[in-house]
Amino acid sequence: MMQQQVVVLGATGSIGESTLDVVARHPERYGVYALTANRSVDSMESLCRRHHPKFAVMMDAESADMLSQRLADSCETRVLAGEAAMEEVARADDVDIVMAAIVGFAGLKPALAAAHAGKRLLLANKEALVSAGRVFMDAVAQGGATLLPIDSEHNAMFQCLPANQQARPQTRAVEKILLTASGGPFRGWTREQLSDVTPEQACAHPNWSMGQKISVDSATLMNKGLELAEACWLFDCTPGDIEVVVHPQSIIHSLVRYCDGSVLAQLGNPDMRTPIAYGLAWPERVDAGVAPLDLFELGRMDFERPDTAAFPCLRLAQEAITQPGGMCVLNAANELAVAAFLERAIGFTDIDQIIEKTLETITSGEPQTLGAVEDLDDRARLAAREHIARLTSDSQVVG
Ligand code: NAD
Ligand code: MG
Repeated sequence: MMQQQVVVLGATGSIGESTLDVVARHPERYGVYALTANRSVDSMESLCRRHHPKFAVMMDAESADMLSQRLADSCETRVLAGEAAMEEVARADDVDIVMAAIVGFAGLKPALAAAHAGKRLLLANKEALVSAGRVFMDAVAQGGATLLPIDSEHNAMFQCLPANQQARPQTRAVEKILLTASGGPFRGWTREQLSDVTPEQACAHPNWSMGQKISVDSATLMNKGLELAEACWLFDCTPGDIEVVVHPQSIIHSLVRYCDGSVLAQLGNPDMRTPIAYGLAWPERVDAGVAPLDLFELGRMDFERPDTAAFPCLRLAQEAITQPGGMCVLNAANELAVAAFLERAIGFTDIDQIIEKTLETITSGEPQTLGAVEDLDDRARLAAREHIARLTSDSQVVG
């Protein structure tokens, strides 16, 4: 078997590390061509020593300098810096598979480079897809890329949808896609209880260990809003085709209901190495290092409706999906609001307020080019920053 060359964008993150864990289990199948990260030099150094990539790219130039000094004794890895270098490794001729695992809008351009170059594109970075929408899907189609969802829910949907219809399930056979949600660490809490939660509480997810940003998104239910939009783009459907089901155990990763009454689900322990291994090997399967699911130990599974009164982010996303450019604006505002919350500049329930205000401020058409997507993202960030500044100066006056 020919060894396939893998690029991991966002290699030092939670998904990046899980990807490298699966890759390293199958050295006969996968080699590491390049790893990229923002500025975590220590983690990148140890990943390079362990996985021997041809290239290591740091977004931050100073971090790249530091890394190349640290790796001076090893001639295997060339260190590069900046976004253009990330795009370059993502589209390199020798590369077969690109894992898009940078967090946020920052991952868009390298993911698009892989799409344009026709790679097998494993998509964890949902923010890139929901912000760029049509532009992203066009790049995949024009480049002839194979787009495989890594988000556990979308990976489950992909596995449950009829073969060859994964990109167009709204034949009469598929009635509904059921998108499961854990409900996050604050499931069952009231709006009042939520007002003074801390970043530590928000990041302590009951089932999954993830990066900080997606952990907060899971706590606000914005993650489910982003995933609703993600599913619409991936499977060419509308929000009306998808229902959100809260399932606190996170064992069922999503379901597809058919017109004959059949409901297919994908189950497994909450471990991202399962969807990652599926994406790497599809249509084959490889060992992911994941413990087998023990139904006797699990005992029961529960289901409830999402509480959009206490968690308005899901409703905001449902509305934004129907507005041209709405998800790009929502995503930008959410990224800034979550960062402000993590820095303790705003409260947990301010996050949805900032997003709602930003959505009210910015109007646009559906962006048709990457430039238009970037412009809209810029405008939304500017507006969100103003709303955050206003809120923080108000609260200083008050308290
Ligand atoms: P993380 O914060 O753990 O890692 C983020 C990675 O991106 C790091 O390697 C970091 O160096 C890099 N990065 C951050 N900012 C960057 C920038 N400006 N330029 C270049 N690189 C940058 O995040 P994560 O939890 O691994 O999530 C990554 C993506 O996968 C997110 O979009 C998230 O929504 C999605 N996702 C994650 C999980 C999960 O279980 N962690 C599940 C589903 C989807
Ligand atoms: Mg998910």
